[in-house]
Amino acid sequence: MPELPEVETVVRTLAPHVLHRTILSMTEVKPCRVPESLPCRVVAGYTVAEVFRRGKFITARLAKEGSEDLFWVTHLRMTGSLMAYEGKDREKEAANPGKYTRCVVELGARPGESATEGCRVLFNDVRTFGRIFLGNSAALENWSSWKKLGPEPLTMGEEAFARAIRGRRNIKTVLMDQHVIAGIGNIYADESLFAAGIHPARTADSLSEDDKKRLYRELVRLLLLSIQECGSSIRDYHDANGNVGAFQNHFMVYGRGGELCQLCGARLKKIVLNGRGTVYCPRCQKKR
Ligand SMILES: [Zn+2]
Repeated sequence: MPELPEVETVVRTLAPHVLHRTILSMTEVKPCRVPESLPCRVVAGYTVAEVFRRGKFITARLAKEGSEDLFWVTHLRMTGSLMAYEGKDREKEAANPGKYTRCVVELGARPGESATEGCRVLFNDVRTFGRIFLGNSAALENWSSWKKLGPEPLTMGEEAFARAIRGRRNIKTVLMDQHVIAGIGNIYADESLFAAGIHPARTADSLSEDDKKRLYRELVRLLLLSIQECGSSIRDYHDANGNVGAFQNHFMVYGRGGELCQLCGARLKKIVLNGRGTVYCPRCQKKR
């Protein structure tokens, strides 16, 4: 599943295509809106004023003269992708809605462009777990998946992080809890715990202040490095231009169960924590 760096990369590659364009139509080809969402037709006539990330959500703020802002929020889940085709690129084969297309958004020319210019965004999703929400800011703040989102790891700071990491659950599960911190999944939980030398099955309460701060610094370092590398491309992940990321080449533990640790040479172990495959080095990440 795309995590913070991958979603950030999609936001950064999607924004230049859609910003300041007006939505001509949004069509739900296959059901993908959450029950709390407004119907797709309401966003016609709105202009994309801002594109940003919150946790693993790709969010566009839509504005229209005399109307309150609306929000178009996409969660890619397992295999979803947003692909943007601008101008002549809309004539490409891939720009046609296909078997896995669930939503099509047509955007018009920007002021000053010829009327034939425009952009098409496809929400494609093989496994169909992805979701779209449309609504005003009050509805967004009330949406269950959004309102309980924890703070953003890149900006919360190590003090707030250290306070948030607590309880008797294992640290891996706490890191991945979107209500505690937003945006972390299996990849960056396993990689940051390895980088900080912390066993993934330790309880959050058992970590010292130093452990927590070291974990925070490693987590931030890896997230920023991954954003720089345009994310990790495993499974179907690619950005809004169809390009893949390169952070998978930096993986020390994720997906490497049974291989040798690149730091110490011990054999990496794979266990299951809270239903999630977890890889760690039994020598570098001592349980204590
Ligand atoms: Zn090791």
